[in-house]
Amino acid sequence: ANFIVGLTGGIGSGKTTIANQFSELGIELVDADIIAREVVEQGTTGLSQIISHYGMDILDSSGKLDRTKLRSKVFDDEQERQWLNNLLHPLIRKQMLAAVKNANSPYVIMVVPLLFENGLDSLVNTTLVVDIPPHEQVARTAKRDGVNSTQVEKIINRQISRKLRLSKADAVIDNTLPLEEVRKTVQLLHSSYLDQASTA
Ligand code: ATP
Repeated sequence: ANFIVGLTGGIGSGKTTIANQFSELGIELVDADIIAREVVEQGTTGLSQIISHYGMDILDSSGKLDRTKLRSKVFDDEQERQWLNNLLHPLIRKQMLAAVKNANSPYVIMVVPLLFENGLDSLVNTTLVVDIPPHEQVARTAKRDGVNSTQVEKIINRQISRKLRLSKADAVIDNTLPLEEVRKTVQLLHSSYLDQASTA
């Protein structure tokens, strides 16, 4: 595909739900969260660099990356967080573009929770923001994951503000509406993206 739509939104806004609606229309998805896991699978250069930096202790008993351990290394340490981001971001970028190249649909949806935060909007032709108010993000995420609202609020506060995200959006889906209403907007956007892809 040579036309990329960057789909983003805050935690619990409905990115996965809406990406799946595009998928039902035959559009291939490239998911940043999945790729972020792939670049540190066993046997990758990503994982071997992490082992050189933190030692074999960063692995679990089966030889896979222990994500909880890694998270605790970078949690309160800005320098370590930088180190890890500098390692992973170029690997993720490269894999995402490779996945786009392999996709056979007329355009692709790149699902990237931190699209603007990590500057990945520079990779896409147009951006689509899934929007709900913060109190709904808290309610839906807490319900889905069985976590408390304080945890969700912390994550919301680490992400770009709703206002800034909306100001950067080329298109916005209001996901407070019932999913059948949302589907109509998805259909309209799909037609427009097909048009744009055919002339890109
Ligand atoms: P995360 O950032 O945590 O990965 P996400 O943005 O992918 O989340 P989803 O998992 O798609 O969000 O949606 C969050 C929750 O809200 C899910 O339980 C989903 O079923 C529900 N949901 C999504 N869209 C709607 C809607 N329009 N109305 C009501 N509930 C919805």
